[in-house]
Amino acid sequence: MNIHEYQGKEILNSFGVRIQRGIVAHNAKEAVDAAKELTEQTGTGWHVIKAQVHAGGRGKGGGVKLAKNLKEVEEIAGQIIGMNLVTPQTSAEGKKVHQVLVAEDVYYPGDSEPEEYYMSVLLNRATGRNMVMYSTEGGMDIETVAENTPHLIFTEEIDPAVGIMPFQARRIAFNLGLSGAAFKEMTKFVIALYTAYEKSDSSLFEINPVLKTSDDKILAVDAKVSLDDNGLYRHKDYAEMRDIREENPVEVEAKKVGLNYVDLDGNVGCMVNGAGLAMATMDLIKQAGGEPANFLDVGGTADAKRVEEAFRLILKDENVKAILINIFGGIVRCDRVAQGVVDAYKNMGNINVPIIVRLQGTNADIAKELIDNSGLDVQSAVEFQEAADKVQAVLA
Ligand code: GDP
Ligand code: MN
Repeated sequence: MNIHEYQGKEILNSFGVRIQRGIVAHNAKEAVDAAKELTEQTGTGWHVIKAQVHAGGRGKGGGVKLAKNLKEVEEIAGQIIGMNLVTPQTSAEGKKVHQVLVAEDVYYPGDSEPEEYYMSVLLNRATGRNMVMYSTEGGMDIETVAENTPHLIFTEEIDPAVGIMPFQARRIAFNLGLSGAAFKEMTKFVIALYTAYEKSDSSLFEINPVLKTSDDKILAVDAKVSLDDNGLYRHKDYAEMRDIREENPVEVEAKKVGLNYVDLDGNVGCMVNGAGLAMATMDLIKQAGGEPANFLDVGGTADAKRVEEAFRLILKDENVKAILINIFGGIVRCDRVAQGVVDAYKNMGNINVPIIVRLQGTNADIAKELIDNSGLDVQSAVEFQEAADKVQAVLA
């Protein structure tokens, strides 16, 4: 689950990571009040107004702006809230901005040497260990740094048995070229950041930029945080940070009815039981010259009700030109699934794309008969390749 920058910073702050402080506002008036309050707390007269959407590259898209007085706070907040922010990480339509973070300006006026670093904590799947990834080249696209100057990206692997060790934090500070007070600040920052990542059951913490001010403070200016869904039951307060406005509406609906659905860009909808079979089926669709429109695992109980819910989700996608149902009947009997498909098809009454059903396993023969005699635009297939050929034929 992804969360907003301001929420990520709340988590960081609660673990003692120094952050650029800010207050969320939902309209221009709230933004002005927030700026006044921040001035009282921090003494800053300048503020940055930052669009809160689940996408990076906001600065480039005009979603991060400096306001030098309250009038500018009001103007800029009014302009950013409600806009469709387009960044390199959003679609062409962009993302609607519902709220902004009014933050203290931490790039001191006249400060000629603010240093920006990149730092993230994430799982290295190759080694099965968490790592801190960092670079002197902060503030810009880390993908670009990786492409042009990969030697400027460092990693520090963390032993899960002992956690991050002080010498590792010192090595990071050293590699970033720090000394004196900034060096000490950075080691504290790194240890607090890693602790926050681990204790919050996150799968990603990305801070870009980490800022070193001219008076040697180290702080998180940005925060991209992904929490592990499987750890949310341990963090009720984090679970409440979910902002479904930022999520794909079909995926939100799928979650409500307990279906495992991921929206994709293709033209063939698929309905499968089991994640492994779903992956294989998506490969099959590609081989047949189609593109999967979704990943959908209906799970163990593919009865009429579930099949109908799955149809409903798939058909919300206007790009779907065909649906491939690929079910292995192990515990669930194929004839029951077939009956489910037929019942759901008739119940819905508005299915206007061809359907190919492959049922294998217990009672597959009875299931095939049920499908073939249904009189509906549903074709049965027994073999994997046969299913692929039929998909290819309907797309042609
Ligand atoms: P992103 O573009 O979505 O990654 O958003 P960031 O939070 O990283 O902000 C984008 C850029 O805005 C940063 O790289 C900074 O250069 C700039 N920025 C952020 N905070 C401040 C601030 O307090 N003062 C000034 N002058 N610029 C800031
Ligand atoms: Mn950033």
